[in-house]
Amino acid sequence: MSNKKVVVDQDKCIGCNTCPLIDPETFELDQETYKAKVKKQPDTITETIDMSISSCPVGAISIVEEE
Ligand code: SF4
Repeated sequence: MSNKKVVVDQDKCIGCNTCPLIDPETFELDQETYKAKVKKQPDTITETIDMSISSCPVGAISIVEEE
């Protein structure tokens, strides 16, 4: 069974805080690095997550399939 996972590319993220504002359940800004990280992996990829992905100015958020 494959599982979808949300990933934030730490090299690309510029810490604009957009994704934690759109989806505070899934994303949070790391208080030490000031980059976004996944707070909680979602059970399903919601529209809000899709919106976060398309709103990220540097394309740092992606969905990966895990085996
Ligand atoms: S929207 Fe993109 S650049 Fe902004 S905090 Fe989230 S991952 Fe980082």
